[in-house]
Amino acid sequence: MTADAKQRVAALLDLAEDRLRDGYRTERQARTFSDDGEKRPANVQAPSITGDSLERVSLEVGSCEACILARTRRNTVPGEGAQNPLVLVIGEGPGADEDASGRPFVGKAGQLLDKMLAAVGLSRENNCFIANLVKCRPPGNRDPEPGEVSACAVFLARQITLLKPKIILSVGRVPTQNLLKTTEGIGRLRGRFVDYQGIPLLPTYHPSALLRDETLKRPAWEDLKLLKARLDDNPSAGMAP
Ligand code: SF4
Repeated sequence: MTADAKQRVAALLDLAEDRLRDGYRTERQARTFSDDGEKRPANVQAPSITGDSLERVSLEVGSCEACILARTRRNTVPGEGAQNPLVLVIGEGPGADEDASGRPFVGKAGQLLDKMLAAVGLSRENNCFIANLVKCRPPGNRDPEPGEVSACAVFLARQITLLKPKIILSVGRVPTQNLLKTTEGIGRLRGRFVDYQGIPLLPTYHPSALLRDETLKRPAWEDLKLLKARLDDNPSAGMAP
């Protein structure tokens, strides 16, 4: 890509970011770009990637075609919620309702998730952000393939960096196994905090599993109580030995 083309793309991204935020233009420092393949003089550093934002992540997700899920999606689902959340909820990927609306956890499982969060004083409006491992719907609600997860991982990583949540609540087998790089079942992983890149992560059941199997509601409630205890500043609540 030429330097001019990069400049135009950056200007468009800045404009879109301003529109999404409040409609007013933000003053930004001038940036310089170079043509791809152009040799940079030895004393000139490559420009650092600064000024990342949740809006920018959402915009990039919106036009991403890095994996095959782009071909069948109706809408991308980057995530939504509070900007400085206490809790970042991470699910597996959008389902049919989310694909149709572009919003995470809006079907029956999402309504149950909202109720579960409300029971411990949390909501996506005030103090939670809700995101998924992959931002586009796997057809037929199949598990995302490893290549799809790794293609999408950069977006979730940037969201975690930007959001700096106090706690991550990983709902279900797929996000938990992928984040923790394990093949253990969710039944064994749930119920205790583990460290994820310096952030306490609590695995629990996906709300859709609770809709299918009533007997999972009690352990899920125990997990929520652990989450609440940790939020109430009991640092040893539920920590793995
Ligand atoms: Fe891009 Fe992620 Fe969607 Fe794949 S799932 S197309 S990597 S945004």
